[in-house]
Order: sequence, then structure tokens, then C-alpha cells
Amino acid sequence: MHMQAEKDRRKDESFRDKLGIVTDEGSRKTIYPKKPKGRFYNARTIFSIALLAVLFGVPLIKIENHPFMMFDIINRKFILFGMAFGPHDYFIIALGFIAFVVSIILFTAVFGRVFCGWACPQTVFLEMVFRKIEFFIEGDYYRQKKLNAAPWSPGKVFKKLTKWSIFFALSLLIANTFLAWIIGTDELVKLVTDPVKQHMGGFITMLIFSGIFYFIFAWFREYACVYVCPYGRLQGVLLDPNTTVIAYDYVRGEPRGKLKTGIEDKKGDCIDCNACVAVCPTGIDIREGTQLECVNCTACIDACDDIMDKVKRPRGLIRFASENNIKDKTKFKITGRVIGYTAVLTILTAVLVFLVLSRKPIDVTILRAPGMIFQEQPDNKISNLYTMKLTNKTFEEVPVQLKLENIDGEIKIIGNDIRLNPSDVNETKFLVLLPKEKMTKMNTPLEIGVYKNGERFDVYKTTFLGPGVQK
Ligand code: SF4
Ligand code: SF4
Repeated sequence: MHMQAEKDRRKDESFRDKLGIVTDEGSRKTIYPKKPKGRFYNARTIFSIALLAVLFGVPLIKIENHPFMMFDIINRKFILFGMAFGPHDYFIIALGFIAFVVSIILFTAVFGRVFCGWACPQTVFLEMVFRKIEFFIEGDYYRQKKLNAAPWSPGKVFKKLTKWSIFFALSLLIANTFLAWIIGTDELVKLVTDPVKQHMGGFITMLIFSGIFYFIFAWFREYACVYVCPYGRLQGVLLDPNTTVIAYDYVRGEPRGKLKTGIEDKKGDCIDCNACVAVCPTGIDIREGTQLECVNCTACIDACDDIMDKVKRPRGLIRFASENNIKDKTKFKITGRVIGYTAVLTILTAVLVFLVLSRKPIDVTILRAPGMIFQEQPDNKISNLYTMKLTNKTFEEVPVQLKLENIDGEIKIIGNDIRLNPSDVNETKFLVLLPKEKMTKMNTPLEIGVYKNGERFDVYKTTFLGPGVQK
């Protein structure tokens, strides 16, 4: 029977030729989704509150007076969990980015677009903040429709102005919060409290970003997911018949028909009430199959479960399931693709963890100056010239001293004492002077201790060129 149901369902695929948010004439179809309610919506609300707490709260956390997290893309300075990363850590940053992309691919291959519905900032803000405010001020979908169609009146002006003002205030807050993730809270406070003319560029940028957020959440809305989001576009290649998506169980639901009027051979559980379509924020009918526009928001699951309760049929006519699960009742299967992605992700994560844990706060590289041999110096001494590159990966200013560890001799820094600025790279030249009588061979092994505040943090091994055996 289910083969027939699938055939029937697939015989008309014309819905794939058009978008639920565009009219046949090609203009925008305004979507008025019904206010969702149900267990998934409640769970998403709680999860969103936790995410919003992280988004707004983390920039306020400081460790030893430095941000806990900061992504200063402009100056290429990043702080992750209190650890500073800079351009010198490009390898770790690139690897971390690749691991992030692979984890998204893996997650999508197994669980579909769960990220979109539950954690994407666009969905969280739109569905859990802006849409809730809209429902509160303008009422449910039919009231909103009526209000928009009605002529301007004091009541309508009041409602619209209230909504737009709150939307803009929220957009301003969101723009400021994202900026706090980029430049840190201290800089942001300075930007906000200093006279505007001191930070005209920052002020204009802030207004532009607030305007963009306002435009997205007040008007652009589902267009961002359907037209702009590259992740949404990738679904076609990331999903397969084993992927868990939000799916309509056509085997159980078809043939559909109204409960009371019915159709003669009605056997399916779908009563064709359209409740699942009414709540969809992207204007699609999930009964037609998995579609690009579906952001996995779960509103249709809640709506259908509610109907199933009312008509005394089991819940889950729309549920999280794979195509194979619905078609053949097969359980979740780990495919070769999933194993492959998991293996790559495991290796990348292991390398990343190793690199982060073995990362030194100050990197030292000492090389004998290229093209130079030894120089004869007064007092029967021999010198070699070295270049040293120091990378300070900490937030502190670090004074650095050098000491010979395995041989008596002298180190002369060329120029001033070495003082590393926070997150800075320093290149210095220095001479090592050894007494001629210590030259027992042409290549003398050298160990140079690198100290900060009298405490040794690295020993660098190199060689010292000399004239050979002295008689
Ligand atoms: S089809 Fe269901 S899960 Fe997908 S966007 Fe519409 S309501 Fe949300
Ligand atoms: S809510 Fe359920 S019963 Fe109603 S049309 Fe959608 S799938 Fe059918």
C-alpha cells in the first residue's frame, strides 16, 4: 500500500517549480504564520532563552580583565575561552574553521537542518523574539492580516509605531551585542559613552548594522533563509534518504480527506485540515515532501500533534523521521558517508586539541645569521651573530632575558633590551661571545635559555661556529 501512496504523492512534483513565498505573478506573498503552540515550541523557547543568554552574557565575562571570548576580525585578534589567538595562530584558526564546517556537514547529513530551527540566530531572533512581540502587539495571524488591510487609524498608527520602535531598539541592541563580540565590551562602552564626533565612523557603522537587522527582522524575514542563506542552498547535496528531517508520514496519512465529509475510500490519518500549513513561517506544505524552504522549526509537528489528539489518532503524523524510516520503517542507519565524515572530524578535532594544548604562550625561534661565519673579537674571544623571533601570545608585556645554559660565555643584545608587547611579534639580533680556548671543534652545541622575569620558559638549541681546535 505504501508504494502506491508514494507514487500518488510523487506524481505531481510541480510544487518544486515555485516558492511558497512568491505569488504566481512573481511578487512577494506575505506570510502570516499562525501562532505556534505545543511541546516542541516550548522546548525551542527554553533553548532560545539559553542561547540568547549566551549571546548577550558572554561578552560581559572577563578573565583577568580580558574578554572571555572575542572575535576581532579587523585586527585579526581572537580570544577563545580566555586564550589569545592572533595571526601567528593562522594554522589553528584555519583548522578550527575546517573542523567547524565538517561538523556542520556531518550534523546535517545525520540530523538535517536542526541547526536552522533551533540554533540559527536568524530563526531564534525572528521566531522567538520579533514574532512573539508582533503576536503580542498585533495579535494572531488573522488579526495581523486584518490590521494590514485596514485603513490607517489612530489605533493602527499606535500599534505599528510601537512595534517598529521596539523592533528598532532591539536591532540596535543586537548590533551593539555583535560589536561587543568583535571589539570587546570595554571598547563598546567607550564608543557609546564618548562624544559621537570622536567615533563618527563607529557610530555610522552601528546605525548601518542596526538598519540591516531591522530590515531583516521587520521585513526580509523568511527571504533570508530561502534566498540568501548558503547553508540552506547546500541541503540538496547534504541530505540523503537516511537523514532525519521533519517529514510527513504519507504512508500513514494518505489518502487524506476531510474528517466529516470524508471521501469514500479514505483510509489515511491526514484530515486535510491545513493546520500544518497555517503555522509554517516559510509558507510551505510539508505534506509535499522535504523542501528547500523548510527550516525545521517544528511548528507543523506541534500543529499536527494537536489535531491528532483531537481526532484521537496517534501523534507523529508529522515528525522527525528519514525518508527510509517512513517508506520502509527502517531504523536510523549509520551510512558510509556518516562514517567518513566522522573519521575526518575525529582526526581534525584530535589535531586541533593537540595544537591548542601544546601551544606555548611565547614562541621562540633562534637562528644563526645566514651567510655569516665567526668573528674574532678583542680579549681572545670569538663571536657569532644570531637572529631571534619572539611571538608573544599573551595579554601581558613581557621583558625577555637570554642566558647561555651549557657553556660559559656572554650574550650581547644588539639594540635595546627585549620587551614584548602583548600579542606582538619581535625580531632581535644578538651576539654570543665565547673564549677562544673553549673552541674544541668547529661546531659547538649551544643551549640558550629564554627567561621572563628571571623565570626560564624555553631553552633553544643551536650551534656556534668557531675556528676549530685551539693549540
Ligand atoms: S514545514 Fe514545518 S518545520 Fe518546515 S518550516 Fe514549515 S512549519 Fe517549520
Ligand atoms: S495538520 Fe496533520 S492532519 Fe492536518 S493537514 Fe497537516 S498533516 Fe494533515
